[in-house]
Amino acid sequence: MTRTIDVATASRELEGRPAAEILRWASRELGNKLTFATGFGAEGCVIIDLIAREGLPVDLFTLDTGLLFPETYELWHKLEGRYGIMIRGVRPSHTVEQQADEHGPRLWERDPDRCCELRKVVPLRHALAGFDAWITAIRRDQTAERGHARVVEHDKKFGLLKINPLVAWTHDDVWGHVYARDVPYNPLHDRGYPSIGCHPCTAVVLPGEDARAGRWRGRSKKECGLHVIQPGEVPDAA
Ligand code: SF4
Repeated sequence: MTRTIDVATASRELEGRPAAEILRWASRELGNKLTFATGFGAEGCVIIDLIAREGLPVDLFTLDTGLLFPETYELWHKLEGRYGIMIRGVRPSHTVEQQADEHGPRLWERDPDRCCELRKVVPLRHALAGFDAWITAIRRDQTAERGHARVVEHDKKFGLLKINPLVAWTHDDVWGHVYARDVPYNPLHDRGYPSIGCHPCTAVVLPGEDARAGRWRGRSKKECGLHVIQPGEVPDAA
């Protein structure tokens, strides 16, 4: 279990290893205490493909904010059918309408941090209770904040281990896997959306812009608060 895992050693030994091997290691070490929270980005679809092909008994869930694109909901069901898996939908305590009654309409326009806290961070915290580790789909080259991520690290925010099997992958590695294995992916990626979240907070990215430039466009916010490593913070696995 996690108490016996030497995070620094594991991260060092798994650095550069194939993602499938990292997932097999995590499943072996953590058993039914391991979960994967997917947002159905291309990286998440690759991880689902690997987990399914390896037959790993990893819990799978997504944060269903009630504000996902129709294409994302379709992809969710397509992945379940393709791989014969079940991806749990974790929902906030309030529907979008109930949130509007309590906090006013379109909270995401006035206070997106609060909206993400209510619709993503709090539900995620509840969903992770009972697990010792979670797999994420983050890559180091996605943002400066993610540039320090390790294969295995302590997640101080949620009190878990975090397993990042694609941390060393590039954009081209991800898409090479998607095309080679015919992995289902969100068709919005072909329409100018490299990073897809809730529809009110996701815009088309223009040529030359950062892949996450369309998330919360016009604001400095670029993360939901789920995977942030603060500038200057050295992960425990370092
Ligand atoms: S991405 Fe936007 S709509 Fe979704 S939870 Fe965050 S602020 Fe709210």
